[in-house]
Amino acid sequence: MRIHIDADVCIGAGQCALAAPGVFTQDDDGFSTILPGREDGGGDPMVREAARACPVGAVRLSGEAGG
Ligand code: SF4
Repeated sequence: MRIHIDADVCIGAGQCALAAPGVFTQDDDGFSTILPGREDGGGDPMVREAARACPVGAVRLSGEAGG
């Protein structure tokens, strides 16, 4: 799996970092970034929840089996 954050869409709501703090964090401006080395989600099942929680759909997951 590969996580992509659309920075043009992200509004800094922070839902992704709340849902999966082991994968997402927020930069100085409050926008979402992926923690170093966690671009593949690190097997965290909450990544999917983070993508669902994002109110603007800025978190995209690619390369999933069946997805
Ligand atoms: S939940 Fe969505 S809008 Fe909020 S910080 Fe994360 S990616 Fe950005």
